[in-house]
Amino acid sequence: MKSIADLDDLQGKRVLVRSDLNVPLEGSTITDDGRIRASVPTIKALSEGGARVIVCAHLGRPKGSPEDKYSLAPVATRLGELLGRDVTFATDTVGESAQAAVESAADGDVVLLENLRFNPGETAKSADERAEFAGSLAGLADVFVSDGFGVVHREQASVFDVARLLPSAVGGLVETEVGVLRRLTTDPERPYAVVLGGAKVSDKLAVIDNLIQTADRLLIGGGMVFTFLKAQGHEVGKSLLESDQVDTVKGYLEQAQERGVEIVLPVDVVAATEFSADADHEVVGIDAIPSDRMGLDIGPESSALFAEKLADCRTVFWNGPMGAFEMAPYAAGTAAIAKALVDITADGALTVVGGGDSAAAVRQLGFTDDQFGHISTGGGASLEYLEGKDLPGLTVLDES
Ligand code: ADP
Ligand code: MG
Repeated sequence: MKSIADLDDLQGKRVLVRSDLNVPLEGSTITDDGRIRASVPTIKALSEGGARVIVCAHLGRPKGSPEDKYSLAPVATRLGELLGRDVTFATDTVGESAQAAVESAADGDVVLLENLRFNPGETAKSADERAEFAGSLAGLADVFVSDGFGVVHREQASVFDVARLLPSAVGGLVETEVGVLRRLTTDPERPYAVVLGGAKVSDKLAVIDNLIQTADRLLIGGGMVFTFLKAQGHEVGKSLLESDQVDTVKGYLEQAQERGVEIVLPVDVVAATEFSADADHEVVGIDAIPSDRMGLDIGPESSALFAEKLADCRTVFWNGPMGAFEMAPYAAGTAAIAKALVDITADGALTVVGGGDSAAAVRQLGFTDDQFGHISTGGGASLEYLEGKDLPGLTVLDES
C-alpha cells in the first residue's frame, strides 16, 4: 500500500481525496465536527504541497439524487474555517459545477464536491454502474488518495472502483487508523479488554466470534446486552432484544468459557417505562427487570464492576455506548466507561474508541480526544477489521 510520500511530486497535480465528512447535522448546524477535523491534516498537507485538492465525501443516506438536507455545503464552510483558507464548493459531484471548479483551481486550492450519494452510481450493486461513475470522478483528477476510514469497508465507486483507475495512495488518516488496529490485533499488551455496546446488535455479534480468540475480557452493555441476558435465562421486559440471536449468543458464552475469556455482563440496569428522558425509571437487578419496562443504561453497580475490570487493562477497544446516553438519565454508564479509559490512558494503556455515537458520547460528556489513545472515525470499518475481514478499500490499494 503506497502512502502519499511514495507518490511522485504532487505540485500542480489534481488530487482526488476521498474523505469521511459524514457529520451529524441539526438543520445546517454541525453538532460534532470530529470527522472534519480528522480529515484536515491530509487535505492540508496536499494543499501545502501545491496540489489542486479535490475532496469528495458523502453525507447521510440520500437515495441517489440531490436532497437539500444532505448537502455538504455546511461542511465546506466548516472545512474552510479549519483549514484557514477558502474552500470552493461545487454544487454537483461530477457535473458542470464540479468541472468548472476543478478547471479554475490553482495550485494549493481546495475544492469540495457535492455529496457523492446524490449519484446512484456511488453505491450501485452493479459493478458497471459503479465503474461508470468512478470513471467520471477519475476524469476530474490525476491521482487518488483514499482517506475516508469510515468507508474503507465499502465496495463503493469513490472508495473502491476509482482506485483502479488512477495512481492511488492511502492518506494519513487511514494510515493512522490501520496502524492502531494493527496494534490491537498483533500481540496486544495484556490484559486486553473489549467493551461493546450500542444499538446495532447483530452488527456487533459477528465481531465477538473473532474477539473470543484474542481478547482476555469482553464487557457488554448497551442495547445488545439484553440478548446476552436473555441467553442466560433472564427476562428483559421491553428492552431491545434480538430473539433470533439468542442461540448464537449462547454459543459465544460457551466458547468464551472454554477459552478462558471472561465475559462481563451488567448486574443491574436502569429500567424505564418508555424510551424517553421523562419516563419513570429505576435501578433494578438483572433478575428483576419488570415486564413493562426497558433497560436503557447499565446500573451503578455495573458501572463500578466494569470500571474495576478495566482498571488493570493495558489495551482496550470500546465500541458502542452503554446506554441511551443522548438522554441524561441514561448517560452514567457510558460516562463510567469513558472515565475508566481516561484513567488507564494516563497510566500508559492503549485505549481506542470506535463508533460514531461512542465518539460523540465521549465528547458530549465533556471528555477531550487527547484523553484517549485514539478515537476512530470508523466504527463499522474498525469492527470489520477486528472481525478479520478484508476491507475492499484497502485491498484495492494493495493492487495499485
Ligand atoms: P456506535 O455508533 O458507537 O457504533 P451504535 O450506533 O451501535 O454505536 O449505538 C448507539 C446508540 O445505541 C445510541 O444512539 C444509544 O442511544 C443506543 N443505545 C444504547 N444502549 C441502549 C439501550 N439499552 N436501549 C436502546 N438504545 C440504546
Ligand atoms: Mg452509530
